[in-house]
Amino acid sequence: QENPPQFRRVLLKISGEALMGDQNYGIDMPMADRIASEVAEAVRAGTEICLVIGGGNIFRGLSGAAKGMDRAAADYMGMLATVMNALAMQTALERIGVQTRVQSAIPMTTVCEPYIRRRAIRHMEKGRVVIFAAGTGNPFFTTDTAAALRAAEMGCDALLKGTQVDGVYSDDPRKNPDAERYDQLDYLDVLTRDLKVMDASAVTLMRENAIPIVVFSIHEKGGLARVLAGQGVCTMIG
Ligand code: UDP
Repeated sequence: QENPPQFRRVLLKISGEALMGDQNYGIDMPMADRIASEVAEAVRAGTEICLVIGGGNIFRGLSGAAKGMDRAAADYMGMLATVMNALAMQTALERIGVQTRVQSAIPMTTVCEPYIRRRAIRHMEKGRVVIFAAGTGNPFFTTDTAAALRAAEMGCDALLKGTQVDGVYSDDPRKNPDAERYDQLDYLDVLTRDLKVMDASAVTLMRENAIPIVVFSIHEKGGLARVLAGQGVCTMIG
């Protein structure tokens, strides 16, 4: 009775904070398991999925720089944090039977594969979930931009941004009960009104490549599968 998936291949971006659960730092494995079960359900429904996970639950370049570190060095530390999250998600996915490959933008060949575009596509065609680690591999970027870049490189039909709330609102819905959720936005709305969805470089890259951004809640059970079937609560930016 389920609708067929509306997207053939998607990239799912989740922030590092999504893995914290109720903690205020690091990785909460029960939370990683919950997110993994969302991904597993979507893979089983027939969508090819790749993931980008942030690193903010462990380390952010800007905070390191604020403490006196060299910004570029701090950003590399942030990228290493995303590798830790990628390995945690790999564990969570594989223990429920989803085959995964981690590919790092910074080669780390004893830990995971290096990023190789055509190989990543091949993995997805075989039904494996590819987790892209280490962001873009460059300091001064974010994992949002890494997600947009990989979505374009992988020929994804959508970039899904799993957040703490179920879409883009006119104000913070956790603070303002009158905040309205948008069903549909244009890329330019997001850019000109500076709606805090993803950073501007990520939105611009998606606009130039006409890849829709779908913002939805990663914390609702079955939410990812519903969004993929075109039935979920979300904001579609396109
Ligand atoms: N980072 C970077 N280049 C990239 C991606 C990430 O330098 O291409 C660094 C940056 O320091 C950032 C940190 O990695 O603060 C963690 O990523 P991000 O803040 O995007 O994670 P999220 O907010 O999604 O958890």
